[in-house]
Amino acid sequence: MTPRFPDAPRRLAHLPRDRRGFPVPWFVSWGAGEPRFPVVDAAKLSLAWNEERCWVCGDRLGALRGWVVGPMSVIEGATPEPPSHYECAAFSVSACPHLSTADARFSGQYADAADCVAQPNISKQGSAVTAIWITKGRGATPFQAGAGTLFGLAEPTRLEWYAAGRRASGGEVQEAIALALPKLRTAAQAEGRGAEFERRLTWLDRWAPQA
Ligand SMILES: [Zn+2]
Repeated sequence: MTPRFPDAPRRLAHLPRDRRGFPVPWFVSWGAGEPRFPVVDAAKLSLAWNEERCWVCGDRLGALRGWVVGPMSVIEGATPEPPSHYECAAFSVSACPHLSTADARFSGQYADAADCVAQPNISKQGSAVTAIWITKGRGATPFQAGAGTLFGLAEPTRLEWYAAGRRASGGEVQEAIALALPKLRTAAQAEGRGAEFERRLTWLDRWAPQA
């Protein structure tokens, strides 16, 4: 039988596969011998950041890091998840059903499991568009946000946009941003950082391809 994803990066070869043949990312929590997609193993979150390990494969990171982020994270410049090797991030955005499918929904079935991170800062807003925010070195500063931690992203060296497992068109990127915008703008204005938010959108013009 031909293994699924024969062109997966070699770094992922050691990861266990689930019943469908998907490599199970390092961050996923396990219960009763089964991976609990997409629930994050709480201990891995600090381990990944403190030991500079790849969120997807668990190995040590090099200088180049890829942060897999949705449009909301790009607009806000903050994400709840640590970075990965660029090639692990690139594989994830093309192969992971949660990232490459617009209608994928986060499962709530493990929300009560004791060893799971509740991930208070993850948006449930489904988006067909995902980005890889590429940095060199640490690339972010963690900060407390409500009940969870967010990573405040440093200026990217590159920002790549994907949709349905391939590079996104300018139209798709603009549409995803437009969808995420109103809620974030309202929140920013309510928190008294409306002007800062508008400056942020001007910054984004440089990084988001036009239609
Ligand atoms: Zn990796």
